[in-house]
Amino acid sequence: MARIAVVGAGVVGVASAYVLCRAGHDVVLVDRHPGPGQGASRANGAQLSYAYGDALASPGLLAQLPGILVGRYPAHRFHPQRDPEFLLWGLRFLIEGLPSRFAANTRTLLEMAAATRTHMRDLLAELDLAFDHVPAGKMHLYPSVEACERTADTRRLKASMGIRQMVLDRDEATAIEPALDLHPDTIGAVLYSPDDAVGRPDVFCAALVDRLAGQGALTTLFGHDVAGVLEHKGRVVGLTFAAREPRPCERVVFATGAGLEALPRRDRPYGRVWPVQGYSITVRASDRAMRTSITDVRRRIVFARLGDEVRAAGIADIGARRPAFAPDRFATFKAAALEAFGGAFDPSDAGTPWSGGRPCTPSSVPIVRPGRTRGLYLHLGHSALGWTLCLGSAARLVEVMDATS
Ligand SMILES: Cc1cc2nc3c(=O)[nH]c(=O)nc-3n(C[C@H](O)[C@H](O)[C@H](O)COP(=O)(O)OP(=O)(O)OC[C@H]3O[C@@H](n4cnc5c(N)ncnc54)[C@H](O)[C@@H]3O)c2cc1C
Repeated sequence: MARIAVVGAGVVGVASAYVLCRAGHDVVLVDRHPGPGQGASRANGAQLSYAYGDALASPGLLAQLPGILVGRYPAHRFHPQRDPEFLLWGLRFLIEGLPSRFAANTRTLLEMAAATRTHMRDLLAELDLAFDHVPAGKMHLYPSVEACERTADTRRLKASMGIRQMVLDRDEATAIEPALDLHPDTIGAVLYSPDDAVGRPDVFCAALVDRLAGQGALTTLFGHDVAGVLEHKGRVVGLTFAAREPRPCERVVFATGAGLEALPRRDRPYGRVWPVQGYSITVRASDRAMRTSITDVRRRIVFARLGDEVRAAGIADIGARRPAFAPDRFATFKAAALEAFGGAFDPSDAGTPWSGGRPCTPSSVPIVRPGRTRGLYLHLGHSALGWTLCLGSAARLVEVMDATS
C-alpha cells in the first residue's frame, strides 16, 4: 500500500482515485476548486459514447481545414498563437489526421471506451450512484445518405470490434425517437448506436467522492492549489502548495486535464496537450424532448436528456492556452441548438450556459505513463472523450503504476 496523491478531481482524477482506492492504496485527492468535477468535466456533453470513440484529427477534418481557416464553419474557430508549443501541437495534430493514424487512434480509443463500459457496469452494481445515468442509445443525424456512407470504414472497424451500430432511415429512427419530428432539416440517414449511455459527470464525481470518503477510503483536499512536487534524489516525496505547508506522499498522479503548470519541467508533455474550447447549455426539457442522445452532424451539436433537463453541447475553438467564455461564440452555439431542437427546450427556462476546454492531445489518445521523476505519473489529455474514457484509462493507469513501482 502506497500513499498516493491524485492532483485534479475531474472525471479522470476521480476515476483514478477510485481504482487506486480499490487497489488498496492510501489516496488523497487534491483540487484547487472547492469540490470535484468543476473543471472541463463539469457540464460537458454528458455522452458515454462507447460506440463513438473517433479521434478528433481525421482525414475528414483535414479536408475541411481550409474552410475552417477562413471561418466557413460556425462550429469551429481557429486563432493561431505565436507560441512554439502551439505550433508543435498543431503540426502533430495534422500528422495524426492521416488515414492510418486516425484508424489506429480510433481503435485505441474504442478499446478504452469499452473498458470504461465494463468498469462502469461493475461500479454501478457495487455502489448504485445516482447521476441521471441512462443507457439511452445515440443517434447521429446525417443530412444525406452519402454523408453517412463516408463513415463506412470506421463502421467496419467498429463492427469488427463487436460494437453495435445500424443505419436507419428517418422513419425507422423516428419510430424509436419521436423527437426527430422536431428537427427542421432533411435527414438522409441516421446512425444508431443502441448501447451508448449518458450521465451527469459532475454529479458522478461528487457522488463517488462522497461514497469513497464516507467509507474512509479517500481523503480530499479541495481548495488547494498545487504548486509543484517535492523531490528527494529524483524521487517524489511530497506536494507543495501555493499558500500551505507541503504534504508528504510516495507517488503522485497528475490528472490535471489541460493544466500542466505544476509539473516539473522535465515531466511536462511539451506540445502534447492544448485546450479545444466548447460550450454547453442545460435547459428544462419540454414534453416533446428526446430520450435518446442525438448528434446533429451538420451543426456539430450533441443533445442529451438528463432527468428533466436537456443539455446541448458543441463548438470546437482552438486558440488561447487559457480560453475564456466568449459571449459571441456562446450566442452562435445557442442559436444553432435552438434551430435544430428548440422544441425540446421548455421556453420558460433561459438555461444554464457553460464553457470548458477539452484537454486535447494531437491523437486524442490520453497520456497514461510514468514521468521522468520517479513516483510521478501522468494521466491527462483525454481530449473530447474524457467522460467516455475515464474508467478504462484509470484501469490502464493502475497497470502502468504496478509495472513501474
Ligand atoms: C463542451 C464540451 C463537451 C464535451 N462533451 C463530452 C462528452 O459528451 N463525452 C465525453 O466523454 N467527453 C466530453 N468532453 C470532454 C471531457 O469533458 C474532458 O475530456 C474531461 O472532462 C477531462 O477530464 P479531466 O478530469 O482530465 O479534466 P478536468 O475536468 O478539467 O479536471 C482537471 C482538474 O485538475 C485541477 N487542477 C489542475 N491543475 C491543478 C493544480 N495545480 N492544483 C490543483 N488542482 C489542479 C482543475 O481544477 C480541474 O478540476 C466534452 C468537453 C467539452 C468542453
